[in-house]
Amino acid sequence: MPTKRVPINRPAKVQISDEMVDLFDRMQTLECTCEEVNQHIPEAEYWKRRLCPGCEEYLDLEFRIIELWPGCRPWWRLSPPDLDRRTNKENVARWRQLEAASAARKASTRS
Ligand SMILES: [Zn+2]
Repeated sequence: MPTKRVPINRPAKVQISDEMVDLFDRMQTLECTCEEVNQHIPEAEYWKRRLCPGCEEYLDLEFRIIELWPGCRPWWRLSPPDLDRRTNKENVARWRQLEAASAARKASTRS
């Protein structure tokens, strides 16, 4: 057997591309105008609910970011840390990475 090193439990250090940061920044600008507040994260049976344009675009952007994520899985999501319902640690970790990448880019373009 060839010894091929496959790191197990490798820390999730992902290269966040500029494109991903662009999409993430765009997500932050969207406003939800749904009649029932869903904070862009639809509750159960969200597919039965009509989403406002802000939510539709939000979900589309979220999907595109996930698609760009190296090694992405289709069921992944991005969850804002302040949202305590439906919170999944990995989804929140992804959000935080994007947030950090976005903040770092803003800091570097400011100087
Ligand atoms: Zn909405």
